[in-house]
Order: sequence, then C-alpha cells, then structure tokens
Amino acid sequence: KSKGKKQAKQATKQVAQNAVLGAGIMGGGIAYQGAVKGIPSVMKDINQAALDLGLKEASGILLKGMQRGKVDGKKMAATLANITPTLDYSAIANADLVIEAVVENPKVKGIVLAETEDAVADDAIICSNTSTISINQLAKSLKNPSRFCGMHFFNPVHKMPLVEIIRGEDTSEETINAVVATTLRMGKTPIVVNDCPGFLVNRVLFPYFAGFSRLVLDGADFTAVDKVMEKQFGWPMGPAYLLDVVGMDTADHAAGVMSDGIPERMQKIDNDPVTVMFSNERLGQKNGKGFYDYG
Ligand code: NAD
Repeated sequence: KSKGKKQAKQATKQVAQNAVLGAGIMGGGIAYQGAVKGIPSVMKDINQAALDLGLKEASGILLKGMQRGKVDGKKMAATLANITPTLDYSAIANADLVIEAVVENPKVKGIVLAETEDAVADDAIICSNTSTISINQLAKSLKNPSRFCGMHFFNPVHKMPLVEIIRGEDTSEETINAVVATTLRMGKTPIVVNDCPGFLVNRVLFPYFAGFSRLVLDGADFTAVDKVMEKQFGWPMGPAYLLDVVGMDTADHAAGVMSDGIPERMQKIDNDPVTVMFSNERLGQKNGKGFYDYG
C-alpha cells in the first residue's frame, strides 16, 4: 500500500490547459507564453478593454517576431487561437493550472482565489503571480491550500527566463512538481523557494536599490552611478534606469513590504528618493518621468 502511495506521489500532473486571471502587463504576457508553447490558455479579466489590450500585446510580440523572421503566419495564427479571452468564470472550469495575476491587493486576490477554487475541478492547481504578498497569507483564502503556490514571472514575461516557484507551508510536492514541469514547458527556468519577504530576486535587488538611494542622499549624482554600474561595471543598466523600468509605485510598495517583514535587514530610509518621486508622481517609464524623462 505504502509503495503505491509513493508512486502516486511521484507522478507529475500533466497540465493540458492554463487559465490566467487578469489580462494586464503580466497576465497578458503569461497567457501569451503558454499559448506560444502550445498550452491553450484562457485569459480572464473583469473588463473587456483589458482583454483587448492583453490580446494586442500578444499580437504585437508575434508581429515583431514575424518582422525578424522568427515567426511565420501559421505560428501566429496557432498562438492567437490558443488564447481564449473571457469575462466569465465558467470558461476556466476545465483549467488544470490557474495563474492569478490581478492587481497587487491582498483583499482582491483573496476574493479572486476563493472564486477560482469554486470554479475549477478539485485537483486543479492554483498559483499566484504576486511579487510581494506572502503565499501563506494568500493560502488562507483557499479551502485546500495544498494545491496552491506562488508562480512569479518577471516583466517582460516573453523575454525574462526566470520563474520563482514559492512553496507555502501547506503546498504539496505534487503541486510543486506540476508547476515546475509546466514552467519548463513554457520555456522558462524554474527555481523553487520558500515563502519569505522578497522571495529570492527582490531579496537581492532591494538592498541594492537601498544602497543606491543612500548614495543619492549622500550627494551622489544618479547619472554617474548609472554610468559606472552600466558602462564600467558591465551590468545591462544602472539602478536609476532600472527603477524607472520597475516603476516607483511598485518599488516603493515592495521596499515597504520588505522593511515591514525583515526590519533588521531592510531598514526604512528617511526621505528615500524612490518614495519622494512616487509622491511627486514621477513613476518612471510608465508615465514618462522618473529619474529620467521619456518622450
Ligand atoms: P496590471 O494592473 O497591469 O493588471 C491587472 C489586471 O487585473 C487588470 O487588467 C485588471 O482589470 C485585472 N483585474 C482586477 N481585478 C480583477 C478580478 N477580480 N478578476 C480578474 N481580473 C481582475 O498589473 P500587473 O503589473 O500585470 O500585475 C499583476 C500581478 O503581477 C500583481 O500581483 C503584481 O505584483 C505581479 N507582478 C508584476 C510585475 C510587473 O513588473 N508589473 C512583475 C512580476 C509580478
């Protein structure tokens, strides 16, 4: 009996259909990434305009691929046919893996996760793409938290190889194995991490941003810091430019979550330039003005 149980545990669930909740920057990208790798992906939002934008984003990536000769008409048609936009929960009923990518708000996510659990089969896997919210906290919205984990993609999804898979206290090994297998099928590189503020990437990135903020407060010229880190140290971009890409709203929020969660390692910075710019609505590339001005 115990041997059979062991074998059942080792079998990895095959995901035949994905569903993505939220058709924003991330949801649209995640639906595209499944679709382009041959996994039919239902994309659900609460408004039609967002669904239209999500589809436009996918077509845009495919058109660029066509211009570079990497995608032909057949591939474009097959990929778009694999994305089913919907406003209705009934359309996710057959999904084996649901990836929640709605706004970064614990209350909204809690409601969406509970609604999802009611809409899918008992053995469907449910993930959240949250950047900062604790997976153990979100798991409380579900009746069966063993089928839940974090599946954290990076922006832009079609270019960034990494996916952090976040194991909550109640996440089962079957769930982790199925999400790892699906991540690989989506052409991405999975790493499995335990639940903690910042997971892995932001745990490394945000102390770096904090170091940068302190240098600026000490009087450093941010363009000089960017130039050193990019041109002389050889990173793809410097911290000021990277903060403009991430967005000051997102960066300020994530830094707050980390300094609340691990105050001994991430002390709050008085007059942090990131917070000051966020208050002055200099959000970065998303609204055309951050450390630098765009367009
Ligand atoms: P976004 O604002 O671009 O998109 C959110 C979408 O969710 C919108 O289209 C909105 O209409 C939809 N939505 C809101 N409530 C909904 C509901 N009840 N049901 C279905 N859809 C609903 O946000 P985003 O930048 O794509 O971020 C989504 C998630 O991904 C967040 O948790 C964020 O932390 C995470 N994330 C973002 C990035 C990034 O760089 N933007 C990177 C990694 C992870």
